[in-house]
Amino acid sequence: MTPTIATIRGRAIRTAFTILAAGAAVLAPASPSHAWDAAGHRLITLLALDHLSPQMPEFLKQSDTRTRITENALEPDRWRSVRLGQLVHLNNPDHYLDVEDLEAYGLTLRDIAPLRYEFISQLVLARERAGENFKGRPINPARDTAKTDQWPGFAPYAAAENYGKLISSFKVLRILEKLADSSRQEQVLAERGNVVAIMGVLSHYVGDLAQPLHTTHHHHGWQGDNPEGFTTRYTFHSYIDGGVLDIHALTYESLKDAHVIDRPVETMNPWSAIIEHVERSHAEVVPLYQLDKSGELTKEPGKVLISGRLVDGASMLAALYNAAWQAAEPTEKDIENFQKYDGFVPPPAVNTPPAAVK
Ligand SMILES: [Zn+2]
Repeated sequence: MTPTIATIRGRAIRTAFTILAAGAAVLAPASPSHAWDAAGHRLITLLALDHLSPQMPEFLKQSDTRTRITENALEPDRWRSVRLGQLVHLNNPDHYLDVEDLEAYGLTLRDIAPLRYEFISQLVLARERAGENFKGRPINPARDTAKTDQWPGFAPYAAAENYGKLISSFKVLRILEKLADSSRQEQVLAERGNVVAIMGVLSHYVGDLAQPLHTTHHHHGWQGDNPEGFTTRYTFHSYIDGGVLDIHALTYESLKDAHVIDRPVETMNPWSAIIEHVERSHAEVVPLYQLDKSGELTKEPGKVLISGRLVDGASMLAALYNAAWQAAEPTEKDIENFQKYDGFVPPPAVNTPPAAVK
């Protein structure tokens, strides 16, 4: 747990944000709600890395690289602790998608546009069409200073976009490998660094979406009509993020032999695979609340559900890593263009300024 980092959603924040200097900076309060805690994100990443295809470069299988990737899987949550308005506004809604909220826009998971700004257009147009009859979530402007509450969330887009960036970095790396030019060694190292960073960031969003509470309006306890009497406690989210993993001692060691499913991903169109990932997670929202109510969340059925979510996150992530590698096979034209536009010349040796004259 890192409870000093700002909460995941503007709307979940109980203490008001404060905008300073005309929106340039936003102060976020301390609130313990991320997706999986650091341990869960690390676990998902390590499980996925165990299932990289054999063609992947050797450095990705070394233990120091694995550690760096798992650390980068925590980075998007760390961004939340920087109280800069622009970053909070951009970053926070990238960690979730509240599927139920789509209904007010006449949308379902299956018909949201696969492009982020197209999706935003869909939402805005639907809201305009409905006018005063719009039945979406009420917004409290005093609390919504990061101006994120009107959006259902963008996590599937964050996953797809980072998948695309990973294809790019893998491709550059593969081109550099083919060029096998020792003077380009620093370029190779720079690109390996990018691969390690993007694999981590991609892991974060895929992991978040595997946590059912990141796919629902009921993210911090049940909201609204509650005929089954589910918990409304705000801390339910942080309990699922971390507490329940501790209760069941769910660690990489305990799950490393679990069956990681080989998920099909269309290499240049991962959208439907990502949406199916959201659907599988969202399908566990009600069972999760039911297990909490029956007291079985701390027993075997709870262990099965939570470990299933973690392993499913790892399965999706491994599939995306492997698909990105496959999509990054450079053509002769790619190699030619890279050399044409890259214009790499090794920089001169470090310039040492002359000693000051006394
Ligand atoms: Zn997150």
